[in-house]
Formats: sequence, structure tokens, C-alpha cells
Amino acid sequence: MVVDEAELRYLRRCVELATEALEEGDEPFGSVLVAADGAVLAEDHNRVASGDRTRHPEFELARWAAANMSPEERAAATVYTSGEHCPMCAAAHGWVGLGRIVYVSSSEQLASWLAELKVPAPPVRTLPIRDIVPDLVVEGPVPGLAEQVRDLHRRFHRAS
Ligand SMILES: [Zn+2]
Repeated sequence: MVVDEAELRYLRRCVELATEALEEGDEPFGSVLVAADGAVLAEDHNRVASGDRTRHPEFELARWAAANMSPEERAAATVYTSGEHCPMCAAAHGWVGLGRIVYVSSSEQLASWLAELKVPAPPVRTLPIRDIVPDLVVEGPVPGLAEQVRDLHRRFHRAS
């Protein structure tokens, strides 16, 4: 897919957040919630190293949006993320009525990278976001940046 410079900035920030997660000993995932006017409202990275495997950034952003935004604001917002939402996060995104998602790398790419690294399959099945929230506008992957995300996953799994 082709993204413009403004969108690339948000996506690069997601990769930075994923890198921060990795440097804190967590899985490399990062996400940014952006309002219709382009303002960054919230951002987060994975925090599952705490032992709570639901601490995905996309889930945190969905709950932040539910607590802090009107339904209209949520529908007009975009979530940028280093990796396509998992089923749990896609469902949370859909339930709170957030808008478009742009991801750097797809769940399919992640699954193939983890298989290459011989990482055991996760307990929750990997599915495309549109299998969970059929009417959502979803864009990705973004070539170039996706290779950076792949390197982060390699670093994480080689270190652990
Ligand atoms: Zn998730």
C-alpha cells in the first residue's frame, strides 16, 4: 500500500514504540491513536512482560478511546500500529466503534516470521482484522517499515 508522509510519521512512531517495548524486555508492538484532525491522542506499546497477556497497545487504546472520546470522535479516528490487531484487540476496536486501522505488518507476516524463528504457536488463533470486524477500513502492510518490524521480532525471540 502507499501511505503519505503524515501517515508514515505515525507508522514510524509505532515502530519506535515497538522498539521501546523490546528494550524494556517486552514483545515489540506499538500503536498510536490519531484524531480526525491529525492530533496524536494516545500511544502505547506492549506490556505483557508484566504477566498479563492482554496488555496489548491496541486494547489499551480502545479502552482509552471509550473513556475519553465521543462515539463520533472514535468513528473518525485512526489507529496506526506496528502489527495488525490480534482478534482480542480487533474485537475491542470494533466494540468501541473506532475508525480506520493502518498497520505496518500483517498477522500473516508475523505468523510466518515466528514460524521461521521456531516460536510455538500462540494460544489464540491469528486472524485478519476483517474476519473479526468485517466493515472496518483496514490498510497495510507497509513495505520497508515491515522489514524493520521483522528485525524487532527476530531480536526479541533470539534474546529470549
Ligand atoms: Zn492484541
